[in-house]
Amino acid sequence: MNVFTINPSLTEQMIAWRRDFHQYPEIGWTEFRTASIIAHELSQLGFRVQIGKEVLSEDRMGVPSDFQLGVCFEEAQNNGGYKEYMEKMVGGYTGVVGTLQGKKAGPSIAFRFDMDALEILESDEFAHSPMHLGFRSQYEGKMHACGHDAHCSIGLGLASVLAANLDQIEGTIKIIFQPAEEGVRGAKSMVDAGVVDDVDYFLGMHVGTGSPLGTVIAGTSGFLATTKIDAEFTGKAAHAGAEPEKGKNALIAAATAILGLHAIPHHSGGASRINVGTCIAGDGRNIVPASATLQLETRGENSEVHNYVHEQAIAVLEGASKMYGTELSYEIVGAAKTCTSSEKLIKIVSHAAETVDGVEEVVPHSKFVAGSEDATYMMDHVQRQGGLATYAIFGTTLAAGHHHEKFDIGEAVFPIALSAWIATIEQIYQYEGR
Ligand SMILES: [Zn+2]
Ligand SMILES: [Zn+2]
Repeated sequence: MNVFTINPSLTEQMIAWRRDFHQYPEIGWTEFRTASIIAHELSQLGFRVQIGKEVLSEDRMGVPSDFQLGVCFEEAQNNGGYKEYMEKMVGGYTGVVGTLQGKKAGPSIAFRFDMDALEILESDEFAHSPMHLGFRSQYEGKMHACGHDAHCSIGLGLASVLAANLDQIEGTIKIIFQPAEEGVRGAKSMVDAGVVDDVDYFLGMHVGTGSPLGTVIAGTSGFLATTKIDAEFTGKAAHAGAEPEKGKNALIAAATAILGLHAIPHHSGGASRINVGTCIAGDGRNIVPASATLQLETRGENSEVHNYVHEQAIAVLEGASKMYGTELSYEIVGAAKTCTSSEKLIKIVSHAAETVDGVEEVVPHSKFVAGSEDATYMMDHVQRQGGLATYAIFGTTLAAGHHHEKFDIGEAVFPIALSAWIATIEQIYQYEGR
């Protein structure tokens, strides 16, 4: 059996990386600093590094404005981003893939880590650890409140172990650092660029999610398929008193759409969700509103149910627009699929996790019918090609729930996640060789 050795000092290093990433949180498609540091580290470790348009298709969902991208790029430049790598990410192409080729033949194994933060103002209460330990966000209004800072550091920890154990590697190991998971935007573009085309084993992960430290969930199902839609109704302004008949009322079109969207009948094939989260319309009290925008999302337990809700939603938007003579344009700004972890890989990860110090409970499989996660795009792609894919959860102590201003993860999860992934590689080799 191939046995990898892990340098114990890596835990300190992972904590240092995490606290650094935590201080400079970058939202989806603006991870210039984070991605460039990752690219630099991977390159130092001897990985083949692919970056920017090499790992992302041009067609990306939910990219911020050029202005916002520019501001974030400059911030990254001023805070230690590596210029040579950042140059390849202009326009928000902030994905990185590191590949290590073993000397012996073997399978292609991929690990996926997400890098983005959220637009949340981090707590400045002294009791909040990042505050009293001195690594609170330097960017007011942005925060790593989901643990993706931890994911990045675990990914780099994994890369360090692999580089130090090159002789043990059979086949290829790819470490995928994905931008823009929040809002489920980044994964599809990496799949479209071919990043997981050659992958036999795909492993995604999240820390926390309510499971205690010491618990490892080896596989998941139930992530809801989803699309995030920005819709814009364009009407015509007119004097509301003098000639209202000359206007085309975009606000009423949007309001009609909202009621219609929330009235879409349920589907007998499974759970679904729809939500119109924002509506911005109109210019003034005495003006027929010429514009209205909606931000909405649809979700479904399986692709049949989700396709139904999505198509109904588009029909409602189009119908409501037509009723009031407005023009409708809409954009899909995020999407994820539903996906179930592969049984065989769940077993492999479970066996691996059982061997890890600090693991108290291994749960083979957990069903999450609530949220969405765009790693499902990668999982689905790998499974369709005959590969195996899973999404694991590494439990840890949380100071508050995900996406909360006092969110903070217990760093004790780092050596557990790292050892579990290394043991998983060992188990895969054993499974392949049997
Ligand atoms: Zn999140
Ligand atoms: Zn997350």
